[in-house]
Amino acid sequence: MGGSKEGYNSLVEDFRDREYPMLKGATYLDHAGTTLYAKSLIERFSTDMVSNLYGNPHSASAAAQHAAHRVEEARLRLLALFNANPDDFDVVFVANATAGIKLVMECFREEGFFFGYHRDSHTSLVGVREAATESRCFESDAEVETWLRSDVRSKSLLAYPAQSNMDGRRLPLEWCAAARTSPHIYTLVDAAALVSTSPLDLRNAHDAPDFTVLSLYKIFGFPDLGALIVNRRAGNALRRRYFGGGTVDMVVCVKEQWHVPKEVLHERLEDGTLPVHSIMALHAALDVHSELFGSLGRISRHCASLARQLYEGLAALRHGNGARVCEIFKDASSDYLNPSTQGPVLAFNLRNSQGAPVPNSEVEKLASVRNIHLRTGGVCNPGGIASRLGLAPWEMKRNFSAGLRCGAEGDVMHGKATGIVRASLGAMSTRADVCALLSFLQEFFVEPAAPVAPPSPASDAARYYIESLTVYPLKSCAAYKIPPSTPWPIHAHGLAWDREWCLVRPGSNAALSQKRYPRMALLVPTLDLSAGVLVISCSDANLALDPISVPLSLDPALFLPSTTAGRQTRVCGEDVEAVIYANPALATFFAKVLGFEARLARFPPGAGARYAKTDVTARGARGKRATELSMPGAFPEETGSAPMPMLLANESPILLISRSSVNRLNEEIKNAGGRAVRASAFRANVVVAEREGGGGEEAYAEDRWSGVRLGKDAVPDGVCGSEDGGEERGAFLDAE
Ligand SMILES: *Cc1c(COP(=O)(O)O)cnc(C)c1O
Repeated sequence: MGGSKEGYNSLVEDFRDREYPMLKGATYLDHAGTTLYAKSLIERFSTDMVSNLYGNPHSASAAAQHAAHRVEEARLRLLALFNANPDDFDVVFVANATAGIKLVMECFREEGFFFGYHRDSHTSLVGVREAATESRCFESDAEVETWLRSDVRSKSLLAYPAQSNMDGRRLPLEWCAAARTSPHIYTLVDAAALVSTSPLDLRNAHDAPDFTVLSLYKIFGFPDLGALIVNRRAGNALRRRYFGGGTVDMVVCVKEQWHVPKEVLHERLEDGTLPVHSIMALHAALDVHSELFGSLGRISRHCASLARQLYEGLAALRHGNGARVCEIFKDASSDYLNPSTQGPVLAFNLRNSQGAPVPNSEVEKLASVRNIHLRTGGVCNPGGIASRLGLAPWEMKRNFSAGLRCGAEGDVMHGKATGIVRASLGAMSTRADVCALLSFLQEFFVEPAAPVAPPSPASDAARYYIESLTVYPLKSCAAYKIPPSTPWPIHAHGLAWDREWCLVRPGSNAALSQKRYPRMALLVPTLDLSAGVLVISCSDANLALDPISVPLSLDPALFLPSTTAGRQTRVCGEDVEAVIYANPALATFFAKVLGFEARLARFPPGAGARYAKTDVTARGARGKRATELSMPGAFPEETGSAPMPMLLANESPILLISRSSVNRLNEEIKNAGGRAVRASAFRANVVVAEREGGGGEEAYAEDRWSGVRLGKDAVPDGVCGSEDGGEERGAFLDAE
């Protein structure tokens, strides 16, 4: 492992349990999202708050002056952290890095400006282009350098991240010095990701950025506060028309309109009352941070050592057939051993032994089973994602039309990944965290060598039968197992009644999910087709609640009129047409079970559908395969570009798993010392199993299948049933 052990700060292991009790049993690898606060920081802050009398710094009382003094001290201490001389720099406190960026934009837009931003910019930086007179996305470092050498004659703002929040690449700070050759170029450096695990040296004001933004919670975990560090050289560029409370020396508004902005830079830019207590928390944050970790330089070396270990571990993962498990997105120019080129962030995707991408949502779900916290998807870095994943604008637009959204689960579309998995390290990460991630990937995603001469897929059709059929009428709540021998319709959007109902909160109208509200698991829906009702009961016996029911009919009288109900419901960030039940007893029932107000909504089939890809992603029971399965018979083949309608299902209209694969997965988990999972944990609609006497179970046979036919009728809107409904109701597996 080369010199990677150098730099590791093993002292962290001594205080980790004591200072970060929230990490017990968890592997937290999302420090690029936010790092964590130490227990001592919170304790020291609370002692400060209860033992001092602080007023509003804009007042004149002693308490107010005390607060004002502490705020000014915090400003100076923050500058000192970055070796910034207060004669050269000022700090403007803002809500977060984004607010700092917007403040610069607000000032620049008044006169108009050219905005040039690097491809690796965070979304918050990219958005500035909408306020610019003209903008350009630099697609490479070379493009930036060429532009800097050109003769720039109009007011321009060059913006880029000091470290990419996506893959941790660190961009050259030298560009700021190079920009000095033109008096028209200002530089805006987004240091939010960088300073989380790296020093930033602003000693040389001439070569430093004009504007530097950062998020203090990314350094200390707390307070939730941001800062804009302004190079006084460029202070005059930060003038704007608007003035807020506290930013003016005098305002005349009766009969005449006249005002004088304050001259002190930060005073004329900090609108209204400062987040005083958050700023004061910086004292405790700075003290505890340096007591625990020494310096940002020490943290940088510690994290670099861990990142190198993780990088080597990921790169070494191989399937039994020799294929790589991880595709790591690292720039050729960067090196985990060289902190000036690379931060402790790993962006990667997983591939199965056949080279197909594994959906990130699958990685995330299984990671959460192991209490491993990662970030997946587009990570607010549109340019970085598009270039690393080779997504052309037309592909991104197509994926958008097909339902992909920022903030929703990133996944595989048209055989191509649309996002990444990001593991990011922080000051309090340890070797154990790195090992936990590596062994998790080994356990769930590394496939052993393929068996010799696999049995012909054609014979699978005869070997398998449908063990159970399950629907989830109420999205994200308990399952309803279809009783054996009950014929059940399949529509183009999946099994009948599957996820046709959901719960929404008043106001937001977003479909609620169990991930966020675990008590939803207590809600047990039952479909009573003979009585024509959906019955919902609560499985928490302590509540002693009578079940409640709603008719299956779509009688408009059951629902709130659309004007009052706000019919758009958001599912996975997408609007779907929903109707909301009027019966107030429902709201009472859900409030008792969940502890908050929720309404029952219905998404009737055909009433404006949500669109999904036609391909069904088969999730092998251990969640590792990503074979695309089309389901002839159950689904119309893709016709032209018309997308498939589907109800509230998150990803695919039907999820099928194999009992044999679940069994194999459980053997692997038990061998690794884990607890077996039940097949029901996968929330599948169809569980298939092998008939006895076939000479032993074969796990992951479904990876070979190109199609699955359910039921005897190979037509859309067919009917299928579960086993003991007769031979002809088995599953038919079509081989390609
Ligand atoms: C986190 C981050 C941001 C956004 O920070 P906020 O505090 O959410 O405004 C912007 N840029 C980069 C590089 C980041 O890492």
